Amino acid sequence: MSAAKPPIDWQQRAASLRPETRAFIDGAHVEALSGARFDSLNPATGQLLGRVAAGDAADIERAVAGARAAFRKGVWSATRPGHRKKVLAKFAQLILEHREELALLETLDVGKPITDSLKVDIPAAARCIQWYAEAIDKIYDEVAPTGPDALALITREPVGVVGAIVPWNFPLIMAAWKIGPVLAAGNSLVLKPSEKSPLTAIRVAQLAVEAGLPPGVFNVVPGFGHTAGKALALSMGVDAIAFTGSTATGKLVMQYAAQSNLKRVSLECGGKSPNIVLADYPDLERAATAAAYAIFYNQGEMCSAGSRLLVQRAARDAVLEKVQAIGRTMQPGDPLDPATKLGAIVDETQLRRVLGYIDAGRDEGAKLAFGGSRARESSGGWFVEPTVFDGVERGMRIAREEIFGPVLATLTFDTVEEAVEIANDVEYGLAAAVWTRDVRTAHRVARALRAGVVYVNCYDADDITVPFGGYRQSGFGRDKSLHAFDKYTELKTTWLDLT
Ligand code: NAD
Repeated sequence: MSAAKPPIDWQQRAASLRPETRAFIDGAHVEALSGARFDSLNPATGQLLGRVAAGDAADIERAVAGARAAFRKGVWSATRPGHRKKVLAKFAQLILEHREELALLETLDVGKPITDSLKVDIPAAARCIQWYAEAIDKIYDEVAPTGPDALALITREPVGVVGAIVPWNFPLIMAAWKIGPVLAAGNSLVLKPSEKSPLTAIRVAQLAVEAGLPPGVFNVVPGFGHTAGKALALSMGVDAIAFTGSTATGKLVMQYAAQSNLKRVSLECGGKSPNIVLADYPDLERAATAAAYAIFYNQGEMCSAGSRLLVQRAARDAVLEKVQAIGRTMQPGDPLDPATKLGAIVDETQLRRVLGYIDAGRDEGAKLAFGGSRARESSGGWFVEPTVFDGVERGMRIAREEIFGPVLATLTFDTVEEAVEIANDVEYGLAAAVWTRDVRTAHRVARALRAGVVYVNCYDADDITVPFGGYRQSGFGRDKSLHAFDKYTELKTTWLDLT
């Protein structure tokens, strides 16, 4: 019998960690050309984690040039799918082998609980890359039914150099949703992680090269949005930009594409997702538990967060009571403690934003049912209690705007039609859920909801095999599944005259 592995002393590991903070371009870690750096702070303590290379337009152009050169040489783009599969599978394996190191980096960088980083974020990122590795040598091209006099081939080719801009809430998972299909399809990639969470991206780029990816194919340039991000979206050398972040920034990215080379754009933007609980659902405790996790998981910093709880009047008290009971078990704690379920808010700006929305809810007349305050202030970090508002009206800001924190807005309705009306009455359309025992109602409501993902009697069901993305101002294009390849491949038609 093998001895049980002793528990990891995360504090001790954190104390001795020296994260790599330079950009990764052409297979090597490099400083920004300007020599500039920015501070990366630990959200749980407010203390300095490292000073990260602040890439700007010059660094982006250097990375794009490297990516273009690698693409032209065909060192990756012209290799067999079976070869790409092998390298990417090895890359996924290396991510798993470095799971503890990467989980620690992620938790220190963004404040999420270490147990989530270790058990959810890092394995999900590895699985994503593994899945695209396995997919790429199983996809066939097409022959069109043109008749005997011609042969028309419809083939997919890599689009070229892809720029990816990603946010901080699930840094490595959001990056992996781009890295997997972009690289599997044979493209070169320049990744711009959020200035709030650059560390795991920098680290995994090196692991990719260790796995056999040729230098220049996968580059990471940390830096700010208005400098590095903007330069990437404006670059004449980038063929496609894959963006995940806020709707406001998504609109800018579209403008940059139009101002430069009409590069194709895909946008995964914000959400204000409705979670509809009908009184006929037989297990309201289950629905309420899911509703609590849908808003409190990851500190509510989730694009698909069920931030609007729409409860039918007869179920309201039972559901709210249980949501609060779960909230009580999710008080903010030290992210490095494996028992912690709710960690720190990513930075002080975001903390102020979340607290500002809590004030707005009170000012607009919603009833604060639970939480509502900053927590653990003596830690030096940025924590907010799980917070529930009741009596929210659909015109209030907390019912319409994305808060991106652990703040739930509860609205009450009487009829199913009214619930659908309220659910669709925002600018977003990322996710939505309905809880009911009636299969007809489930289908009718699911069809009526204007959202890219609809959950029936569940919330945040997840698998790499299904597409994820939004309607309306939640963006367009889909991450995950084989559909993601549409964003990173060109369709070519080739005619052969057989007469
Ligand atoms: P953000 O828009 O502020 O930043 C996202 C990325 O864009 C960062 O890398 C940032 O540096 C960069 N950026 C900022 N300004 C830029 C500019 N002018 N030009 C180019 N790039 C720029 O968003 P955030 O605060 O990092 O992330 C939170 C948002 O992301 C929320 O709205 C959330 O809903 C959304 N999100 C969506 C999904 C999805 O799949 N739909 C997933 C996760 C997060």
